[in-house]
Amino acid sequence: MRTPIAVETPTRPLPTIEPRLREVDAVYRQPGLHWVGDGFRVAGYFSAIPDALRKLDPFLMLDYHPRYDYPATEARRGVGVHPHRGFETVTLAFEGSVAHHDSAGGGGVIGPGDVQWMTAASGVLHKEYHEEAFSRRGGAFHMAQLWVNLPRADKMGAPRYQPLQAGEMGRVTLPDGAGEVRVVAGSYRGVGGPARTFSPIDLYDARLSAGGRARFDFPDGHTLAVLVMEGEVTFNGARAASDDFVLFRRDGERLEVEAAREARLLVLSGEPLREPIVQYGPFVMNSEAEIRQAFVDFSRGAFGTLED
Ligand code: MN
Repeated sequence: MRTPIAVETPTRPLPTIEPRLREVDAVYRQPGLHWVGDGFRVAGYFSAIPDALRKLDPFLMLDYHPRYDYPATEARRGVGVHPHRGFETVTLAFEGSVAHHDSAGGGGVIGPGDVQWMTAASGVLHKEYHEEAFSRRGGAFHMAQLWVNLPRADKMGAPRYQPLQAGEMGRVTLPDGAGEVRVVAGSYRGVGGPARTFSPIDLYDARLSAGGRARFDFPDGHTLAVLVMEGEVTFNGARAASDDFVLFRRDGERLEVEAAREARLLVLSGEPLREPIVQYGPFVMNSEAEIRQAFVDFSRGAFGTLED
């Protein structure tokens, strides 16, 4: 008969490990605005950041459309049919509304608070424009488009379209009336967002009231950046104001934010893919051979068809 093994129960508490603060790597001011088609007046933040594709991996691009008033028009404003392969386009509408149609059958209209998460993967054609009734009315338009890279194994998968409605987003009300965090992807304090992603991503739209504080924890090693869409804040003590894009170092976990004025933040974080990136315009693959193949496939109609 075996003698039971005595298991010693630890009586001392485990040592607590304090999370390390994320240091600010750099604060980038808003680059000059440019037009994408005739409907999107955007600041392309990543093009002003040296080595952006490595520093911001798995994110490839952020086109931010600050609030802008469009006059009423009968014309269609936007971008006509164009292809994408190898990544995802994530469009967040804050004001105004955007319509989209793609060759994989995805389509719809997104309005304030909605997000369209389009996985181009092996390839789609799509068009993006101001929704018709909004165009006729005119008015304030405010949005952002983020490009998220796909892991090598998923670049040639089937396209997918996720229309995420404002009401589906995870919502975390911060204590002491400090504000609210809307979770689009990943999770915050155990509250998940609706987006399905191919690699770990956290994407939040956070509002802070004047004097409000919030604390975020991200996995050590994940990319972290915050676009200050409105207001003025400090991140771990470093100041940033409206239209600043703040990139953090990958070491550490914690981000403590305090708003000097009412603020709205777009928080992006994700696990770097650490795979080679070869980009040619709307195609983002791992090798030049795959880019050449994208052109061949596109020119012979493999991305499907879509009327302009
Ligand atoms: Mn596009």
